[in-house]
Amino acid sequence: MCCRVASREAPGLRRFVAAGLSAVVWCLLVYVRSRCCLSSQIMPTPVSEPGGVFPPPRATPLRVSLTGVLESAYDGRMTLARIPDAPPSAGWDLHCHTVFSDGRQTPDDMVREAYECGLHGVAIADHDTTAGWADAVKAAERYRLPLIRGTEVTADASGISVHMLAYQYDPCDARIVDLFASLRAARLARTKRMVELISKDYPITWDDVLAQIREGDETTVGRPHIADALVAAGAYPDRSAAFAGAVGSRSPYYIPTPSPDAADVVRAFRQAGGVSVIAHAGDPSRNRRLLSDADIETLIDAGLDGLEVWHRGNPPQQRERLLALARRHNLLVTGGSDWHGKGGKPNKLGENLTDDDTVACIIERGAIPPILPR
Ligand SMILES: [Zn+2]
Ligand SMILES: [Zn+2]
Repeated sequence: MCCRVASREAPGLRRFVAAGLSAVVWCLLVYVRSRCCLSSQIMPTPVSEPGGVFPPPRATPLRVSLTGVLESAYDGRMTLARIPDAPPSAGWDLHCHTVFSDGRQTPDDMVREAYECGLHGVAIADHDTTAGWADAVKAAERYRLPLIRGTEVTADASGISVHMLAYQYDPCDARIVDLFASLRAARLARTKRMVELISKDYPITWDDVLAQIREGDETTVGRPHIADALVAAGAYPDRSAAFAGAVGSRSPYYIPTPSPDAADVVRAFRQAGGVSVIAHAGDPSRNRRLLSDADIETLIDAGLDGLEVWHRGNPPQQRERLLALARRHNLLVTGGSDWHGKGGKPNKLGENLTDDDTVACIIERGAIPPILPR
């Protein structure tokens, strides 16, 4: 090492200056290395699982923006992202479904379309599964588009159906793996039972529903697949019409999804190093009764991180209420399209977005690295 040679030959002041320079170089190396770890996917002590290699949850949260700025004062909870009054016009779509649940297109289609729309990045958020994550990562690298990974879970809070979005959690966490397995099994049994009831009045069988499933056992099966079978049989013109009829929550064939308690879901994702957000909390078309402020505050106490405010289902007065709650409790405010691909829902990819600073907060809180292709 040239610094050591120089310091051996240099007496007094020169030795002192050389030692100081070594310390500065060392600090710079540590700083550069820490930035590399955060901005690329090189993280300490990775754990492997079938879909890829993931690091353990970070013990010490750091604030990092997508441009790599570090702020050590961050306490891991507060929101340093600005809460906007209006939906962002650029950013990330954090709510997208693919063929691994009830979407009609692949993770590759999702990333390609996000790239073509000029989004800054996209999040996969299939129901009750991480099965599409590996394909989404490959697509993000192919199209060089940033990606974060998530899941949407149907839960229950005070008898109200709540959709929880969770991002950047450790997919190997035993509690999460068990949760998904039991949710998917319960959803499958309930879907089969609904098909038995519907098939008494409509020309579909369970095999017709299976014919709508693209990824076999890896697909989370649910009501949208019944709807697709009904459309294929000519009973309805499209999925939305089927949801307004036989598969809707007000139909006589409807059986509710068996759901875990929402606070337990929030705690499970928090333990797995994830970031949890209530999806479309103000959408009056999904529930006769909406979550009250007190219901949401119970989830905040359990570790909730944010609210999906920018979603087509939330009407203006509900957006105002959710924004006020977010300001009061320093919550993240997110947006997403709830895209299901062509033939899924009319929702267009990128029609609602999350700003870059909020995504940076999600990334710094999360247990796994984002995919940020260079
Ligand atoms: Zn939802
Ligand atoms: Zn959704």
